[in-house]
Amino acid sequence: MAQREKLKCPGCGGEMNFHAEKVDYSKALADPQSMDAEFGGALEEFHTCPRCKLTVERPATD
Ligand SMILES: [Zn+2]
Repeated sequence: MAQREKLKCPGCGGEMNFHAEKVDYSKALADPQSMDAEFGGALEEFHTCPRCKLTVERPATD
């Protein structure tokens, strides 16, 4: 698997930590284009900021 790029926190500009990955089935129903064939849903990544505790959710890139 490719090395994950660190996200910059939109709140404080610090480096965010990769936190978790989940499959969002509700999004796949709403937007079939984003569906992942293996998981049957849209794969989402969660990143958290250790400084301001902000959590960012974004579509997985790999
Ligand atoms: Zn932050």
